Amino acid sequence: MFPPQFDYHRASSIDDALELLERHAADDPRILAGGHSLLPDLKNGRASPRALVDIGEIDALRGIGSGADVESGADSGADETAIGALTTYADILESDRLQRHAPVLTDATSVLADLQIRNRGTIGGNLTAAEPGADLPAATLAADATVRVRGPDGERAIDAAAFLGADGSEPALRERELVTEVRVPHVEAGGYAKKTHPASGYAMVGVAAVLETDDGTITDARVAATGVLERVVRLAAVEDALVGARVESKTIEAAAERAGETIEPADARSDDHASGEFRVHLLSTYAERALERAVDRVAAGAGGTGTAGDLE
Ligand SMILES: Cc1cc2nc3c(=O)[nH]c(=O)nc-3n(C[C@H](O)[C@H](O)[C@H](O)COP(=O)(O)OP(=O)(O)OC[C@H]3O[C@@H](n4cnc5c(N)ncnc54)[C@H](O)[C@@H]3O)c2cc1C
Repeated sequence: MFPPQFDYHRASSIDDALELLERHAADDPRILAGGHSLLPDLKNGRASPRALVDIGEIDALRGIGSGADVESGADSGADETAIGALTTYADILESDRLQRHAPVLTDATSVLADLQIRNRGTIGGNLTAAEPGADLPAATLAADATVRVRGPDGERAIDAAAFLGADGSEPALRERELVTEVRVPHVEAGGYAKKTHPASGYAMVGVAAVLETDDGTITDARVAATGVLERVVRLAAVEDALVGARVESKTIEAAAERAGETIEPADARSDDHASGEFRVHLLSTYAERALERAVDRVAAGAGGTGTAGDLE
């Protein structure tokens, strides 16, 4: 399959990218980052823009650090980490700061696709494409991240749920808006567990979990799933069962059992490899695994080792 004809524009800065998007508005311009979702879309005819704006050389969009200093990666001790939109999965995996403060994100990234894609794909592209079964939407939703964008109406900060349309609404990104960075609040512990789809490598089911505890009691829990619906979704019944409970195996198991409660099998995605009913059935197992990883990190005092793939 050949992509349609388009004009290619390389942006030298964020302002330049916004100006190019505005100038070529009539050509339905699309932003090109890692290209691993957009190029297949062009070749399959799912997208047919007449202009592409390549942001790949904008250094200001790349890097991991405190909110004040994404480019240098400096650790200011702030209670959140900013990740530039063009930061690759490989960069995320190399970040000690994220491993320490946002393990749900590094866990999810560690089982994302293969080496080539991890070297090219970007967090901004992953969240904007938000393909069903993509790993980072669930992780950023559980992490309660904020997505910062710039566009014709200036700068906006959008919470991950609204950005991704996790409540069933349309994703919040507007035409000709550029994602500039993702801000992830620091959390005590998190984990991600994925049943990899044998054909695509995306998640057949993926569950991301984040826990906050106080003296052995769970004070906050955010659990999100990908692969089951066309969009990511919070598993509210699991969260409700966790908050106020003790950090114990039997609590985790009982809470995870409730993972499929809010999703009708008839609404779930279905293909030759897994019916909607099977996907909903898998949710409890993968919720329990993700929560176990988070609990291990509570016990270890955050951080921890291994990959979410070890659980497969
Ligand atoms: C074989 C294969 C296997 C894959 N497996 C997985 C997997 O297991 N898990 C997973 O999560 N993903 C998987 N992916 C998807 C991959 O992670 C993509 O890299 C990702 O979805 C898109 O990121 P990108 O940087 O390549 O974005 P692009 O493809 O360049 O862009 C994707 C979309 O986002 C828009 N966009 C990009 N950056 C911005 C920005 N800064 N602001 C506004 N809009 C922007 C583009 O216009 C486009 O619409 C797979 C892809 C392939 C080809």
